[in-house]
Amino acid sequence: MARKDSLVNLHAILVRRRDALRSALAGDLTLLRELRSESPGDVIDAAYDSAQDEISSQLAEVESRELANIENALERMKAGTYGTCEVCSGKIPLVRLNALPYATMCIDCQRELERSGAGRYRESSREEPVGGELEY
Ligand SMILES: [Zn+2]
Repeated sequence: MARKDSLVNLHAILVRRRDALRSALAGDLTLLRELRSESPGDVIDAAYDSAQDEISSQLAEVESRELANIENALERMKAGTYGTCEVCSGKIPLVRLNALPYATMCIDCQRELERSGAGRYRESSREEPVGGELEY
């Protein structure tokens, strides 16, 4: 698939996730449930599993954070900067965008950032699988 087509596809995925997350934060898990049946094993999945009993404040925090990331990605799409690394201005590989649609940095810059001070973040994210960003 051409990069442009992939980006169109990612845009559709992001919009649907945004809508599902907005609904979930409003207490309606129907959309999350629908997305879950289509794309198992991702952040939505984890969020839904935790949401089955109740929407905990922690879950709401995770969803809010993902929602903010998604809205940021959609803004970047509108501005035409989506898929471009914020640090080195290089193209973020599609394989990374597909795994993490709201990535704003290429893997090299991400690693560099983590090396230079975000070690604590990685440490804590390992113990918190729900909403943890995948490394690609
Ligand atoms: Zn970069």
